[in-house]
Amino acid sequence: MHQFVAHASVYESDLIWTHSEIKVCFAESSQASLTLYGGMNHKLNGLPDPENIRTSPLPFREWIKTVIQKNFRAESTGIYFSGWEDCQIENGKINSDAVVFTIPAKYMSFPGLSSIGQGSRLLEKKSHNHLDLPSYIIFSIENGRTQKEQEYIFIHEFGHLSGLRHETVRSAEAAQDPFCGRLPQAKLSTLTSEPLGYSRTLMAKKYDPISIMNLCPYFISRKTKEDVFYFSKTELTAFQKLGLQTFELTHDSEENQFFWEPKLSSQDIRLLSCLYARNPMHGHTDCQKI
Ligand SMILES: [Zn+2]
Repeated sequence: MHQFVAHASVYESDLIWTHSEIKVCFAESSQASLTLYGGMNHKLNGLPDPENIRTSPLPFREWIKTVIQKNFRAESTGIYFSGWEDCQIENGKINSDAVVFTIPAKYMSFPGLSSIGQGSRLLEKKSHNHLDLPSYIIFSIENGRTQKEQEYIFIHEFGHLSGLRHETVRSAEAAQDPFCGRLPQAKLSTLTSEPLGYSRTLMAKKYDPISIMNLCPYFISRKTKEDVFYFSKTELTAFQKLGLQTFELTHDSEENQFFWEPKLSSQDIRLLSCLYARNPMHGHTDCQKI
């Protein structure tokens, strides 16, 4: 959900947290400099100017919290998010792992963006700048989104904050994915040209067309404002070739129908559980087999 350019810097690296409870707070414009966001060159990285940050409206905060707590749970994913209050500053630092900002959509060209990285509380796989500052998520506020689109954006960005990358980075598989096949070629090219970089967290699982980190279903649904997909036999066969069983796609519905729902897929949950619940300190090495 980032702009392409943002991927080149600290975002979407091969980092996971060393602990399972990630403390989140809601911050204001003046607190941006106390996060990883403040250390960035905003213009160069395609980021909105921090002065456009607005206080997150209360219903929006409650919505984010509800959706995220429903999806990321200690007993299923291992990683979970707590806090959800205004950011507090102690000794000149924000005392949370991650900070949520909101910005009116007119100042932002994408619906959400997330970084991951906070010094000693992360397993660091390569050198980064500003790792002693909290990670951040920015959501743009816009009235025109459907509830599902908005919830997809929430979960997707918290997926990034958990260390997950876009499925479409695996361009060969994405080219076989029927959801991606419905996108205009130019759009798909942007998604699949993202550099793979360090992404062992992603490689620990097979390509997943219905992962929350797969942008193709989201973009189609956003375009058509439909959340029901009908598949041809050829498309269903293509899903099977990617390793997705038809029942995973169409459970509780007709054979060729898929109801798009923004939630962590069963593979997303297995991966997060492997990274955080089963092996929280040493990360992905044991997750290669899932
Ligand atoms: Zn994304």
